[in-house]
Amino acid sequence: MTDQQSSKNMKNLNFATRLLHFGSEIDRTTGASSVPIYQASTFHHEDIFNPPQYDYSRSGNPTRQALEDYIALLEGGVRGFAYSSGMAAISSTFMMLSAGDHMIVTEDVYGGTYRLLTSILSRLGIESTFVDMTDLEQVKNALKSNTKAVYMETPSNPTLKITDVAAVTYWAKEHNLITMLDNTFMTPYYQRPIELGVDIILHSATKFLSGHSDVLAGLAVARTDDIANQLKQLQNGLGTVLGPQDSWLLIRGMKTLEARMKQSEISAGKLATWLSERKDITNVFYPGLSDHPGREIHEKQSTGYGAIVSFDVGSGERAKKVLNKVQLPLVAVSLGAVESILSYPAMMSHAAMPLEVRSERGITDGLLRFSVGLEHIDDLLNDLEQALQED
Ligand SMILES: *Cc1c(COP(=O)(O)O)cnc(C)c1O
Repeated sequence: MTDQQSSKNMKNLNFATRLLHFGSEIDRTTGASSVPIYQASTFHHEDIFNPPQYDYSRSGNPTRQALEDYIALLEGGVRGFAYSSGMAAISSTFMMLSAGDHMIVTEDVYGGTYRLLTSILSRLGIESTFVDMTDLEQVKNALKSNTKAVYMETPSNPTLKITDVAAVTYWAKEHNLITMLDNTFMTPYYQRPIELGVDIILHSATKFLSGHSDVLAGLAVARTDDIANQLKQLQNGLGTVLGPQDSWLLIRGMKTLEARMKQSEISAGKLATWLSERKDITNVFYPGLSDHPGREIHEKQSTGYGAIVSFDVGSGERAKKVLNKVQLPLVAVSLGAVESILSYPAMMSHAAMPLEVRSERGITDGLLRFSVGLEHIDDLLNDLEQALQED
């Protein structure tokens, strides 16, 4: 934390205020209204006996540092780290483990994380067991003598299953396991798992944090100094850092996080209700719906339901028709942007998953995932209405 942050006593400010007054919002040297983009790879040693604070941008860059302090403040951790993508953040963090170690991972983990674990880390002798984390017994039963970490993602993608973060973390601590949580869907605006004892928070900042589908970035936040030191060594050693331009863009996007998420959530709630009242929609997944199986646990650990709604239109054929007929949302992978994004998990994010496994997890051929943006909800509903029309 910088002096400026502590002098303003940032921790007592409300989240919306902290998004704007995070310590580096004003350039100390010129008073400029945003942190400068320090487009430099190296830094001059004025006095060889007194090396400068920054000496090489892989090890540290002032623009990246501003972003790293920013996310640490928002998540309530001791230190933040910025990476070139969400996967760079996740893969660098996994390098805390060594050959012979074992991890327990939520079964509906993000597809890229699944691929990393099953096709890259497995080759390096780091094994993982995938369990349904909505069932604590399954987590407990996966414990082995070489288990080192537990990896959570809640709500999960795309069926928004809820893991009881406090329960898993409490159990993990009894067994000296490191806890990691991918907080991409909720962001620190709705969910701050460090307050529940989670050791490492991970983000694909490409999504809600940046919010404009124009930057690829990843973030990690450590709960303790010991973990922060390990992550720092890995980030510098692996070189998976975020460049200064993208760091600046991400800071710019994050300032409006609360305003964007709040508005998108209102629309997501309306969309989920509208869908669940339709007879031609077989299933709607949204933690804010009264019949969502994880709703009670979600409300214990989060202050909102987010902007992702998944729904089943009944068949793959109908899903493809809808995708071809919608006019407003981007039909694309990714989520969490100012514009709505409609994804087709069966053919996009989860295409690599065998059909039986997909069906078992509710990722049917008729399932669509709607990331609700900032368009007027009436326009989004009218558009979806015409796209769902049988011709
Ligand atoms: C997109 C995503 C990732 C991967 O992030 P990239 O920025 O694409 O590398 C990880 N976890 C979740 C939940 C995601 O949605």
